[in-house]
Amino acid sequence: MSRLCSFVIPCYNEEGNVEAVYRAIHDTFDPEGIPCEIVMVNDGSSDDTLNKLKDLYNKTEDRGLVVVSFSRNFGKEAAILAGMTHTTGDYVCLIDADLQQTPDVALSMYRRLEADEDLDCVAAFQQERHEGKILAFFKDAFYALINKVSDVRFMPGASDFRMCRRKMIDAILDLPEYHRFSKGIFAWVGFRSEFIPYEAKERNSGNSKWSFFKLFNYAIDGIVGYSTAPLRLSTLAGGIVFTLSCLLLLVLLILVLAGVTISSAGWIIGVILFIGGLQLIMTGIIGEYLSRTYIQGKHRPVYIEKEVLERKS
Ligand code: UDP
Ligand code: MG
Repeated sequence: MSRLCSFVIPCYNEEGNVEAVYRAIHDTFDPEGIPCEIVMVNDGSSDDTLNKLKDLYNKTEDRGLVVVSFSRNFGKEAAILAGMTHTTGDYVCLIDADLQQTPDVALSMYRRLEADEDLDCVAAFQQERHEGKILAFFKDAFYALINKVSDVRFMPGASDFRMCRRKMIDAILDLPEYHRFSKGIFAWVGFRSEFIPYEAKERNSGNSKWSFFKLFNYAIDGIVGYSTAPLRLSTLAGGIVFTLSCLLLLVLLILVLAGVTISSAGWIIGVILFIGGLQLIMTGIIGEYLSRTYIQGKHRPVYIEKEVLERKS
């Protein structure tokens, strides 16, 4: 018996795609004899997506089709989370509704997981990105920055398109944080992941829902969620200003002792820098405490057990 494979599909204004993606998955997996469960999440679409989903649900009478609908648009991250909680499969695959990510790549992921028991997740990354130079520049800068300031590693170009074993999905579902950033969550929970290249196809129908502004906000979520480095900036800046002001005051003192007359402006600047630096350091110290409360406030588990070997007596 092949293992059950669940698909999680976030749908936001995808009226032209929901049936196509449902059919494409079945057309690829049915001939292989792999049972599929498809969870489609309508993320508060303003077009006809919900009706299309209901039609599909009634028409196919498919026991493996689950339709979840949000009360409003909560964003792709929320849709993925809701979808995952409804899955029951041994493998769970996250895939977009627009057929840019094709089910044949998902089938390769399935085969990789079947072939290697130690592998927990197979994720796709775009080797060649068909996007503007400016966007590509910002994306590269984002990965360079986040890999510097965060202690989990982010694979550049990796998408959410991936298939994971149940235990990894359960670990992800155990993270109750509110500002979800999938790329970070996947990296943070650990487990063994493999990356396979894929080429994103043209959208089947409709337009991309990601504006530059939305992507920028998403990047900020990633950096703030997976690093407290920005809070450290204050300590660093304070340390530099404080040291410079001490040096300045020392030089002034030596000059005075050597009999040089110093204008009062020199002293005032020195003292202002000294106090400013001290204040920045104090803010930085508050930041250190705040960052710990912040991490704690996320209620992340302290560790995750991947496997336990025991002999019950
Ligand atoms: N999506 C969603 N909620 C949103 C935005 C997007 O559920 O607020 C879904 C969308 O329907 C699609 C997937 O997320 O299935 C990826 O979106 P899109 O194709 O617009 O992104 P792109 O491929 O341009 O990165
Ligand atoms: Mg897309």
